[in-house]
Formats: sequence, structure tokens, C-alpha cells
Amino acid sequence: MNKPFDIGIDSLSSASETSTLTISPLPEPSQIPASDASPKSFYLETFGCQMNVHDSEKVSGVLLGRGYHAVKTPSEAGLVLYNTCSIRERAAQKVFARIGDWKTISNGKVIGVLGCLAQQEGEEIFERAPWVSLVCGSASYRRLPELIDQIESGNRRVMGLDLDTDETFETEITRRDNLFRAYITIIEGCDYSCAYCVVPHTRGPERSRPSDAVLAEARRLADAGYTEIQLLGQTVNSYRDPSPRGLDFVGLLRAVAEVKGIRRVRFTTSHPNDFHREIIDAIDETPALCDHIHLPVQSGSTPILRAMRRTYTRDEYLEKISWIRAGRRPYSITSDAIVGFPGETEKDFEDTLSLLDSAQFDAVFAFTYSPRPNTPAQHMPDAIPEEEKSRRLAVLLEHQRQIQAKRNEIFVGQSFELLVDGRRTKRDQWAGRTTCNRIVNFTTPREILLGEYVQARVTQAGPNSLVGEQVF
Ligand code: SAM
Ligand code: SF4
Repeated sequence: MNKPFDIGIDSLSSASETSTLTISPLPEPSQIPASDASPKSFYLETFGCQMNVHDSEKVSGVLLGRGYHAVKTPSEAGLVLYNTCSIRERAAQKVFARIGDWKTISNGKVIGVLGCLAQQEGEEIFERAPWVSLVCGSASYRRLPELIDQIESGNRRVMGLDLDTDETFETEITRRDNLFRAYITIIEGCDYSCAYCVVPHTRGPERSRPSDAVLAEARRLADAGYTEIQLLGQTVNSYRDPSPRGLDFVGLLRAVAEVKGIRRVRFTTSHPNDFHREIIDAIDETPALCDHIHLPVQSGSTPILRAMRRTYTRDEYLEKISWIRAGRRPYSITSDAIVGFPGETEKDFEDTLSLLDSAQFDAVFAFTYSPRPNTPAQHMPDAIPEEEKSRRLAVLLEHQRQIQAKRNEIFVGQSFELLVDGRRTKRDQWAGRTTCNRIVNFTTPREILLGEYVQARVTQAGPNSLVGEQVF
């Protein structure tokens, strides 16, 4: 069992299936009477990964730029938007339940479905939920102003579902919802074709953003007072600058880290195939680059990796881990894993457990395999029963919890620099993150300001977080 103080690690991973981040949580729509909301007011709820969270910041920016204002509940909004995730079936079901809530009470409101589920289901959404007026996939967000024009002129079935674009989603205004960490998308879409994954279908092919645009955004964020930047992409390290400057991922990392005022640069998610030693060399040499690598492995069995079309073997993955461990910094490594992929034998599963022992991750985001439409694995034979998938997931999580508990013990007595990003009022603690992205909940005699950098010494360790006190 977790210790009482062990509040939970948040990571760079796209682990959560649902995150209502853009605007704070709400009563279920079905409990809300429809009201005379201003047509220029919007409510946006986000499901899924950090890419979605950041897309929502940009969508909000587009709307704010067109004279809309954000409201805190769907009942107050003329325009209700869901930015959706379809990575696992459960995520998609949650979204459909949310949309279904509007069936009888949407009168006058414009309901829109954005993101992965919109792209995946397309026009079908209008058939299933005729009260929905806008369906727009993430690759079409650059058309949002035009689509909103159509809605404002009374069109009740507006769609943006293009995938054949080499443009990325640039906005003049991005509404920032995280006060301490600013996201910058550097690459959209994905050119891999992992057998289980909907992303190439829902987000389209890989498109990198010109380095000048990335660096200009980083400078604007630094001027606005941000000190931590997180570069985003489904395969962030496949970045290739399309402009004549021609930076590769390492070149871009170094350039962002040089922006005056930026103290921490993170990036996620790295694909193992594009993970080269030069990335570690760059972090070793550049103080602003954080000591954390999120490197999803998915399975520890080479035959399953092959069936998943992951393009590396177990040994090749572990070799990359050994480069990271040979680096000059005490790196934190986190990962994603899928259990119960079709054909996964008990031996394959044990290989995943033994890989966890070898890799010594600081966190693992593990999922039971969920068959998805339009993916090569959808109809693969030898499906694993749901009950067995759940059993394997529980075994894996417990195995990893023990690894983390042991790893975290060594931090007791050590001091770390933290960026303070939260307050645990009930416990009279503040929360901050180390460069490794570990959470430390700490006490201090001072009235600390959020956003400050402080030093704290760890006094207790749990598998998911650390407890400490400020040192001066
Ligand atoms: N691009 C990242 C990579 O290559 O590892 C992964 C991005 S994906 C949005 C986030 C995670 O969701 C994956 O690492 C994988 O573990 C999980 N995932 C994706 N498709 C899944 C599926 N069909 N069933 C269960 N988990 C899935
Ligand atoms: Fe999905 Fe694979 Fe692309 Fe990651 S690399 S987004 S898992 S297809």
C-alpha cells in the first residue's frame, strides 16, 4: 500500500485517459438546465494527452481572438466543445457518454467534437448525435476560424477532417492554462505505424514546425515569465526542421535551451528508434535541458515488439537505456507499456517484467491492449481475454511499484532544486518538481510564491512521490 503522504507522481507521459484541464470540472450536462447563454461564450473540455491539452490551449486562443469568452460550466456556454481522445476504447466511450448527455437539452447551444474521436468517427458523429454541429479533427484546426464563421452564419453541420496537409497548427493567440510549464508543439502527426495505434489515422502524417517559429514562441514565453518549456510531439525526437536552417532535434533542443530566461526544457514523447546518443550528449552539456527521458517501450518481448511493428528489439531498447545510464547526469527514465497484445504469451509477459528490472524506470504508464478501429492489430488472432489482461496489468503495476519504492529510498537525505507548482493546503505542504520531474511535497517556514525555484531536502520516500523540507 502507498504511504499516506504518497500523493502520486505526474509525469511527462500522456498517461491519463481523461483530463479536464482547460476549464475546471463541472456538473454533468444532464444535470444542467439549458440556459440563455451568450452565443459568444465557450466551454471546452479536454480528454487525453498533453498534445490534446495544448491543442485546447490553441483552440481557446483562436476563439478568444474572435471575441469569444471562456466560461466555467457548459450551462453558461453558447458553444460547448469536447477535445477528444480515442487512443483506447474507454476514452472514446467516455466522450460519447458526454455528448449523449446533450441529447434533449442542447437547445440553442452549438455542440462541437474536436480531436481524435472526431477524426476517427467523422460524419458518423452527426448520425449518432444529430444535436452536434461541429466535427473537426486536429489536422484541420488551422481551418477553425473558417469553420466557426460557418457556424456563426447558421450552418448546423460543419466538418473539418482533412489529413493531407503539411501545415502545422499555428495560432496568433494561445491561451496558457499551466502557469509554470508552457507547451510548444514542434512536430504534429506520426509516420510510424504501430499495429495497435490510431494516432497516424487521427493525427495524420508527421509534420515538423520551422525552427524559427518554435524559437520565436520560446522567446515570447520567456518574455511572459515562463521558465520551463516542454516540447511536444507524438515522436518529438523525429523532428526535422523544414526551413533552410535545417536543424535536427538535437540542434533544436540546444537552441531552445539557449533562450534567455528559460531554465528548464523538457520534451515528450521520444520514439526509441530515433533516440540517439547525441541527445544524451546534448543534455549532459546543457544545464537547461532536464534530466528526464520518457521512452515508451510497450513490451519487453522481441516477438511482441515485432508484432506491434515497433521497429526495435528488446536488446536494442536496452542498449539505449545503457547510453542514458552512462550519461553524466542522474537521469530519470519513464516509459509506457501495453499488456495483453494479441498473441502475448506468459513468457512474453515475463519478458516485460524482466525488462522493468533491467531498465529501472522511475514510472511506467501501463495499459491493457485495447483494439482500435483502422489499426492493423484490430483483427489479429489470439486475442487475450479481458480478465487475463487485467491480471497482467495488476501484476506489472505491483512489480513496478516495488522498483520505484526501492529507487526512491536512495533520495532520502539528498537535496534537490524544485520549481514550486502547487500547494497541499490540508497537509500544509508545498509541491515542486525536480529536473527529473519527481514530485517533492515539502514544508517551509516561508510563505513561498508559486513559480519560485527552491532547494529542498528529502525526508521520506514513497513509490510515487517524495516528502521533504526546504533548505536555505
Ligand atoms: N508516440 C508514443 C510512442 O511511440 O510511444 C505513444 C503515444 S500514445 C498516444 C500513448 C500511449 O498509449 C502509448 O505509448 C501506448 O502505451 C498507449 N496506447 C496506444 N494505443 C493503445 C492501444 N490500442 N491499447 C492500449 N494502449 C495504447
Ligand atoms: Fe502511435 Fe507508434 Fe506513432 Fe507512437 S510511434 S504515435 S505509438 S503509431
